[in-house]
Amino acid sequence: MPNFDTGLISRIQQANDIVDVVGEHLALKRKGREMVGLCPFHDDHRPSFNVNPAKQIFKCFACGAGGDVVKFVQMRENLTFPQALERLANRAGIKIEPLRPRSSDERRATSNDTDPNELARANAWAAKYFAANLAHPEKGKDARKYVAQRQISDESVKKWQIGLALGSGSDLLAAARQKKIPDRLLTAAGLVVGSGSSLADKFVNRLMFTITDVTGRVIGFGGRTLTGDPASPKGFAGASDAKYINSPATILFDKSNALFGLDHARHQIASSDTAVVVEGYTDTIMAHQFGSSNVVATLGTSFTTGHARILRRYAKKVVLLFDSDVAGVEAANRALQVALASRIDIALASVPEGKDPCDFLLAQGKEPFERLIENATDVFQFKWTRLVANLGSQPTIAGKKQAIDEYLEAVTTAVVAGNIQAIEKGLIVNRLSSIMALDAKEINAELNRRIGRAKTTSAYSNTAATDRQQPPLDLGEGLSATAQREILEVLLAEPRLFTDVKEKISPQSFDVPALNRIAQVLFQMLAVRPEATVHDICSCVEEPNLAGLIIKLEEDGLKKDNFKKRLDDALIALKYEQQRVNRQPLTFKQDPHIIGMT
Ligand SMILES: [Zn+2]
Repeated sequence: MPNFDTGLISRIQQANDIVDVVGEHLALKRKGREMVGLCPFHDDHRPSFNVNPAKQIFKCFACGAGGDVVKFVQMRENLTFPQALERLANRAGIKIEPLRPRSSDERRATSNDTDPNELARANAWAAKYFAANLAHPEKGKDARKYVAQRQISDESVKKWQIGLALGSGSDLLAAARQKKIPDRLLTAAGLVVGSGSSLADKFVNRLMFTITDVTGRVIGFGGRTLTGDPASPKGFAGASDAKYINSPATILFDKSNALFGLDHARHQIASSDTAVVVEGYTDTIMAHQFGSSNVVATLGTSFTTGHARILRRYAKKVVLLFDSDVAGVEAANRALQVALASRIDIALASVPEGKDPCDFLLAQGKEPFERLIENATDVFQFKWTRLVANLGSQPTIAGKKQAIDEYLEAVTTAVVAGNIQAIEKGLIVNRLSSIMALDAKEINAELNRRIGRAKTTSAYSNTAATDRQQPPLDLGEGLSATAQREILEVLLAEPRLFTDVKEKISPQSFDVPALNRIAQVLFQMLAVRPEATVHDICSCVEEPNLAGLIIKLEEDGLKKDNFKKRLDDALIALKYEQQRVNRQPLTFKQDPHIIGMT
């Protein structure tokens, strides 16, 4: 049992409804008494992830992940049990002392690593610090002028936590030290660079954009230079001439898996079933300012399968909106790969007249902007149109053949890399057939030939499920292990039968380690709270895989029903097995003290 105050744990649980917390990470749809969505813990093809609002638990039928709200946050954000509790307490505005790691093992494991919560706190402080600089009557004057020029409203400045990094090269460092924020934390957060006496601010004289995760937690920053050209101060480790720089990768920030604005955009993305992806901070901010709030931005990278996987949990369709006419063949190929690998519809659009989306919105307004998005071209069509356009008005047969060839090659590469299922391949073939006006059978045969060839020549066909899978627990074998499992199933499904059990056996009767752990918690809990639910019991184990097992056992228990009879049979079987084992002569594990005593 964790040595946390169980009252505090249940207060934290009650203040964080599991549907709300999970709903921040994926779109949930009601299905009977449960809510379902795409599982964030494995590469889910159909909604396998169930949330039970009444029981306040979740369960994935495909990968076996399961638990309560604390477990979800633990797994989703890769936190320890105390870190997840603290995170949820903060989320609900419950004031708690930073929780100490429980065991010395855990302390050892975390002492070298930075605590993600600590890092997020340092980032949150920095966001406030940058915002105060921007608001400062003198220091923020020029930067505010720039913001006004870009027509970013005061409301947007506040909503997006826009700020200012000052120009001396050590302003943030000095302010942080005054606040007793340790240097190592600033370094880990990527706010300062260098070491020892050469420690300096990473962001110097820049307009600062605060990057948050889907829950609103500050994970990093983007800074736009305010000096314009090479005049920016040199000589500091942090000084850079680049127009935009971002925080380096940290334990919180991985730009190929982060999207700017997702916390503000996710509701609109889910309700419109469409996510619009732009390339810039100001593009995103302006779109929201104009009321198009399903817009997010990549952070200086092209759109990856990581991004697609995140958005797929909220929407079926992604529109990539490019600046001016740069959406060339290369961008289309990349998008095609992502679309095929992530099973999401991708459409492409670009802003006309060499503008970026921000300028376009300011010049034309919301409706023309939304029309651009509505008229976006599906990536399959886009690619084909580009190829055909290159053939000129009177394509030769050889030219057309070459275009088909090139197109199928691009699709083949994507199919091989993306591990496409047969059914999806069928859909793709139909799509290609209507786009290219060719017979589907012909395309299918050609595609199969190419895929076969590509697979044998490429050593790597991407089978990487990058998602973290739960390590399977050893549940033992044989009559005794089955009986132990059965008893737990019944107790979790029908806790009132505990009175029958506690007379006959104790947790020591469970010799399968995972089942023993659950029995310990269950017996302890039911002894004081006969009405305890599976949710309460889950909250007493720290390991996510154990929580998943508890949910599974309860579910199996409920399915099989017939509790009393099954329990009695299992108790008899367990007793019998234990007597049989005890009758066997002791040939090993003899304790010398016992021998001495006999
Ligand atoms: Zn799953």
